[in-house]
Amino acid sequence: MNRHLILNIIGAIVCYSSLCYAQVKHTHTWTCMGTIAEINIPDSDEKSFTNYIAIAEKKMEELERLLSLFKPESDIYRLNSASGGDEINVSPVTLEILKLSVKYADISNGAFNPAVAPLVKLWGFSGGKLPVQLPSDSEIQTLLKLTNYKNITIATNTARLAAKGMSIDLGGIAKGYAVDICYRTLVKMGIKDLMVNIGGNIRCNGSPRRTNTLFDIGKKPAWSIGVRHPYDRNKIVGVLHLTDGYAVATSGNYEKYVTIGNERYCHIIDPQTGKPVRGMAGVTIIAPTAVEADAMSTALFVLGVERGTEVLKKLPDCHALFIPDHQPIKLLVTSGFMKYFTPLKEFTTLVEQLK
Ligand code: ADP
Ligand code: MG
Repeated sequence: MNRHLILNIIGAIVCYSSLCYAQVKHTHTWTCMGTIAEINIPDSDEKSFTNYIAIAEKKMEELERLLSLFKPESDIYRLNSASGGDEINVSPVTLEILKLSVKYADISNGAFNPAVAPLVKLWGFSGGKLPVQLPSDSEIQTLLKLTNYKNITIATNTARLAAKGMSIDLGGIAKGYAVDICYRTLVKMGIKDLMVNIGGNIRCNGSPRRTNTLFDIGKKPAWSIGVRHPYDRNKIVGVLHLTDGYAVATSGNYEKYVTIGNERYCHIIDPQTGKPVRGMAGVTIIAPTAVEADAMSTALFVLGVERGTEVLKKLPDCHALFIPDHQPIKLLVTSGFMKYFTPLKEFTTLVEQLK
């Protein structure tokens, strides 16, 4: 065959394969849990993809119905309303996420605290009234007494909040948990290459590239996920390369905050002080499950670099990037994090490895 003919054939194959690629819909985006959710399954035909999406959306609706803070029929609403009273019958899913919340509260020495809800509300988040002035110390002290997560009792079919006025807020863990549910459901159906993303809580497997026997030579690439610059929403500081069921989550001070006077106060509360955390711009966690990444990003945002790295020793497969809240930024990473992370060239000199 002459060289020209070979090139033409290759050209035709490339065109055909990219045309096929363009015609198949691989990504679906919708609104769920008050944020944007996305599922990406590169290697599926349109009919199966539509089916996968319908199943995932249904699962997410069920979860929202159980965990909502605001719907009177939800397990969490009923549990919060009955604080100090009787135990409440709740679904196995609610029991599981409550147990996971308590597990990560224990691991993080209470920095992740699902019972911090009264203070989250006091500072104007999760349906609370926007504060026009700083909450007083006495208001904070009164509510701190209601945030002992050890007062959440979990039995075989029931849960109970022991003190009247206690309440649960799963905002720091529910999206990660939902990603895991979605991910596991789709993997069980035989999907190997996929990415599930709920509001930046992401879990992936395999590769973003379709299986294509002609071009499938060598190892397929991992999924690439940008880590946002905390002071510039249009910039990233680097890229994570994830596969093998790994998950990532970020907790930051830049998306949700209230302004009182001239100061900004972020939505993550330090359960020791009862006040929004200061000094941290963002914490990104890579972990084997999305629920762990979500809970631990919130926990390490509270704990800061020193106490955070100490706590991480309990979770050997969990890795962190801390970006303290000062300029110019520094990227403080645990050694395991660097296996997955490539900083952009302009940030390489700002990376410091933690012991
Ligand atoms: P996001 O929900 O924006 O992705 P996070 O996962 O860090 O960010 O969760 C923050 C949410 O978690 C808050 O909006 C609040 O509902 C809840 N929260 C705040 N402080 C804590 C805390 N110390 N422990 C557990 N949950 C918290
Ligand atoms: Mg979180």
